[in-house]
Amino acid sequence: MDSATTLPFTLSPSTSPVPPQRRAEILANPGFGRVFTDNMVVIRYEEGRGWHDARVQPYAPLSLNPAAAVLHYAQEIFEGMKAYRTAEGHITLFRPHANAARFRKSAERLAMAQVPEDLFVEAVRQLVRVDAAWVPGNPDESLYIRPYMIANETFLGVKPAAQYLFMVIASPVGAYFGEEAVSVWVSDFCRAAPGGTGEAKCGGNYAASLMAQQEAKGHGCAQVLFLDAVERRWIEEMGGMNVFFVFDDGSIATPPLTGTILRGITR
Ligand SMILES: *Cc1c(COP(=O)(O)O)cnc(C)c1O
Repeated sequence: MDSATTLPFTLSPSTSPVPPQRRAEILANPGFGRVFTDNMVVIRYEEGRGWHDARVQPYAPLSLNPAAAVLHYAQEIFEGMKAYRTAEGHITLFRPHANAARFRKSAERLAMAQVPEDLFVEAVRQLVRVDAAWVPGNPDESLYIRPYMIANETFLGVKPAAQYLFMVIASPVGAYFGEEAVSVWVSDFCRAAPGGTGEAKCGGNYAASLMAQQEAKGHGCAQVLFLDAVERRWIEEMGGMNVFFVFDDGSIATPPLTGTILRGITR
């Protein structure tokens, strides 16, 4: 795959952005992932034509054919990354090319079209530039960026789709867990088995983890911890993040990447 290509972007951002005063109120207490910025990026793919029609456009609901492949066979992948405002007021991204590379791997695993890494990073930059006012300035806060891709071909046959939408949306966020320590529930459910999709950042992995997450909540825990699917005795992965152990002697341990764990970028 060519990763040195990008596309011209058509810039038609929102003409009715959230007023500055309302935005300031939102940024004062952003929560997590409920409020979105004024704009989004949408890029289309079609087999034979490749990526085309890159746009920065107003954040708005999508129109999807009810037979769109993603709604039936779950060809969907995503990334999670953040833009931060520095003490000097500059906006920075944390290793966006690493997210682009992981996105490509996820696409490969789900037999989806691959977004060239430069195009991925450019799409993220375009959105952060146009919605720069949404990047919070307080420590612990950031603009959470969600690049994702769905199969939007209208077809109910089971095969890799020939049409995709790559999109980027963003949401100002505070700290995910807050100040308190988090308790975790060790689940009997499995998240990922060898040869499965555990290393891909796909929505399906999360759908499969929600019952375990629900069970954790029922036991008063905030997060679920998954063991390996073969022996059920090795600690592998949290519901939505990698796990690390910090020992009294200052050493740190984290499970090896064997294909069932998401290759964390923080890691
Ligand atoms: C995204 C994700 C990670 C890695 O997160 P980073 O932000 O890249 O460190 C780990 N585990 C799961 C289940 C994830 O979805």
